Amino acid sequence: MIKNDIDMYMNCPRCLDERPHDVTPAAWARLNVGVTKEGMQIWCVRHDINVMALDFLGQKIRANFDQETQKRKSDSTSARAPRPRKPGSRRSKRA
Ligand SMILES: [Zn+2]
Repeated sequence: MIKNDIDMYMNCPRCLDERPHDVTPAAWARLNVGVTKEGMQIWCVRHDINVMALDFLGQKIRANFDQETQKRKSDSTSARAPRPRKPGSRRSKRA
C-alpha cells in the first residue's frame, strides 16, 4: 500500500484566511483534484477558484494507485488510468 508521502499540502489561501482556529487546514479544505488536458488541477470548491494547475508539458508520467483503488477500478467499467477530457466536454466548475 502506498503511504502518504506528501511533503507540503496545497491549500486555498482564502480558506486558510477563513479557517476557524479549532479546525485543521486538512479538515477545513474543500478541494477537488483532477486530471486536465494539460496535467492536473487543484480547485477550491468553497471559493470556486483555482488553487494550482500543473502542466506536465506533454511529458509522460507514471501514476501509482494503491490496491484499494485498483480493486475499485477493476470493479467498474472505467479506463485503467484517468484520462483527460476532450476539449469542449468540460463540465461546469459550479456544482
Ligand atoms: Zn477556498
